[in-house]
Amino acid sequence: MTKISLQEMTAYAKNYGFVFQGSEIYGGLANTWDYGPLGAALKNNIKALWWQRFIREEPNNVGLDSSILMNPAVWKASGHIDGFNDPLTDCRKCKSRHRADHLIEAQVDGFHADGLETEVLEAKLVELDIACPGCGAKDFTPIRRFNLMFKTSQGVLDESSQAIYLRPETAQGIFVNFKNVQRALRKKLPFGIGQVGKSFRNEITPGNFIFRTREFEQMELEFFCRPGEEKHWFDHYLEASKRFLTDLGIRAENVRFREHTAEQLSHYSDATTDIDYRYPWGFDELWGIASRTDFDLKMHQAHAEENMEYQDPVTNERFIPYVVEPALGVERLFLALLFDAYHEEALEDDTRVNLKLLPALAPYKIAVLPLLKKPHRDQATTLFNTLSKHFDVVYDESGAIGRRYRRQDAIGTPFALTVDHQSAEDGTYTLRDRDTMEQIRLNEEDIIRHVREKIRF
Ligand code: ATP
Repeated sequence: MTKISLQEMTAYAKNYGFVFQGSEIYGGLANTWDYGPLGAALKNNIKALWWQRFIREEPNNVGLDSSILMNPAVWKASGHIDGFNDPLTDCRKCKSRHRADHLIEAQVDGFHADGLETEVLEAKLVELDIACPGCGAKDFTPIRRFNLMFKTSQGVLDESSQAIYLRPETAQGIFVNFKNVQRALRKKLPFGIGQVGKSFRNEITPGNFIFRTREFEQMELEFFCRPGEEKHWFDHYLEASKRFLTDLGIRAENVRFREHTAEQLSHYSDATTDIDYRYPWGFDELWGIASRTDFDLKMHQAHAEENMEYQDPVTNERFIPYVVEPALGVERLFLALLFDAYHEEALEDDTRVNLKLLPALAPYKIAVLPLLKKPHRDQATTLFNTLSKHFDVVYDESGAIGRRYRRQDAIGTPFALTVDHQSAEDGTYTLRDRDTMEQIRLNEEDIIRHVREKIRF
């Protein structure tokens, strides 16, 4: 891994077609980002591997795709209308705006301040003698709380329209469907329901490129179990999350685990651990694993006046299940993967950027490169047509072959196939490995077998 700054990563991501500034030709819209062809592919691959690991390979887990717009009563029951807010404070001198919990966390490494009450936060600001990161002054306004939910209205006429919210998390769509899923799929405890989708939060301090935005995607699993078994499943999913990151190629030294103390826990949680990644500005939250007790189902049972109990088919016991939730942001993982994979390497007569993404994550698996345009184009096109039935393949015939290899290395394509004069004679192609730069000759069938093996997750 070659350390590069956030600015350099932002420029790299733009130049190669991963991430563009949102609405750029209109001067942009602050903190919005559009995912280019490579970014869209990488995001899809991240989501597919998460789904594979946490839904497909777990016999007890199933998927869901619930809607972004929900009955506002959901957010009343979940506590988001009354309690989903961040503590905001302004520097009186330079007028910069801050999240009080972040000011404290920046001062005390590894500390978790986001669950703390306003009074506790204000006392800590004074106790720790915290200064404004912008100007150094120690003069903050009292903390104010802002609700983070985006409000909009449903219905065309003002009189009949109803205030509704864009969901700030995907989890509630799962809780309200707990009974539907359990009944329709005849699920027995323990089992999980997972989903991937957009969430929206009117963050007061968005920034750090795609790390904190107001529109983002989450991959959330709600795992339902018997009361008393939650500790076991919490440990299981903490371990599974750790393994997922390792398997994706994230280095252990760039990850740390932060267990919340009793004082820092959300009111509904009896255990929470955050997995932080070492971004260029320091360790910051990538993934939250929370044991949420029976809080959510209980609240929905009370507010919706619907029974949310599970009946044990053997003992006939009735109870509200406990829940363990691993919640991960797609873009935060995307950014961590880019930083971890980015390498600048000195070669004998050149340097290259090598984006050492796990082959399963790479936007393109194979680049098809005719050595020369005219004589090799037809065969290369046929090869592209065949291989693209199996993999994401990119075709490139422009420029010197060395430069084309460099370009593929820089976007993480694990294999480059060169079509040359021998290809017409014996149907073999040169397959070049991104990391070792070694070349072997294979025919079409062996290429498919070889690549399929290498991209397996
Ligand atoms: P933070 O403390 O950074 O604001 P959080 O603790 O509020 O995050 P959760 O509510 O636990 O976050 O959400 C679960 C996951 O969703 C986070 O770990 C993160 O990966 C992602 N996430 C949350 N807010 C954002 C955001 N504004 N932009 C991008 N990803 C986000």
